[in-house]
Amino acid sequence: MNKVVLITGAAGGIGSAIALKLAQSGYDVVLNYLSSETKALELKEKIIEEYKVRCLAIKADVSKEDEVEAMFSLIEKELGGVDILINNAGIDHPDMFYRKNAEDFRKILDVNVVGAYNCANEAYKHMKEKEYGRIINIASTNGINTYYPMCFDYDASKAALISLTHNLAIQFSPYVNVNAIAPGFIGTEKELEGYDEEFLKQESEKILVKRYGRPDEVASLVKFLISDEADFINNSIIRIDGGQAGSC
Ligand code: NAP
Repeated sequence: MNKVVLITGAAGGIGSAIALKLAQSGYDVVLNYLSSETKALELKEKIIEEYKVRCLAIKADVSKEDEVEAMFSLIEKELGGVDILINNAGIDHPDMFYRKNAEDFRKILDVNVVGAYNCANEAYKHMKEKEYGRIINIASTNGINTYYPMCFDYDASKAALISLTHNLAIQFSPYVNVNAIAPGFIGTEKELEGYDEEFLKQESEKILVKRYGRPDEVASLVKFLISDEADFINNSIIRIDGGQAGSC
């Protein structure tokens, strides 16, 4: 029987790359989405047709406990439970520091941190019973370094996600390995659309390999970290950023 992987925010740039890579590698995949229903359903069809693995697409807001519980119950019923969880769902609303408020801050923490906690908490029930599990939290180099005060809330959320990773690794030991990946600038369609050419050029110059990363490169790292070859990697934060310089 294939292992079952749940990817949150799976219709987005990095999430869909992870889903495709893992389906191609023979995992059964569950695509969680919030608003991108059409994209999620198209991805599901593609995965089933091309890779012949089992695939579900489930709408749930990860920040809401009841929706997360319902999602895990459905997965348990249809596929027997989640063996591997990829906490990828995340939001970021860059804006001038003075234009942000506590409510915006709370929303980001709710999705990026509490959302990851909600999913890990549910996933652990099955993982504990099976005495096996892998959890990967998609953090960010912004959780380690500070680049722009426009993203202070996002940065704080990713730093908290890194801290949560360490705590979950201790709490879920010895059967569940919990690691975080901290990507730098990854050129998803959305990310590239959001900035002008000049800014993108300047940002690439700050990266030692002089380019931004690709979603499939993050997906390859996920694939390795959940494989048996990475069994001894636990409680770690792994950067994938091309050698990013220039924190302030
Ligand atoms: P993205 O395209 O915006 O994907 C994020 C996904 O999160 C969206 O598809 C969205 O789903 C989902 N999401 C948002 N709120 C949700 C909620 N409450 N419940 C469930 N799903 C929710 O962004 P991305 O660039 O692929 O980023 C993926 C992850 O990598 C994020 O955690 C991000 O912080 C992290 N990251 C990205 C970069 C980068 O350069 N791109 C760098 C470092 C870290 P719907 O579309 O269905 O609403």
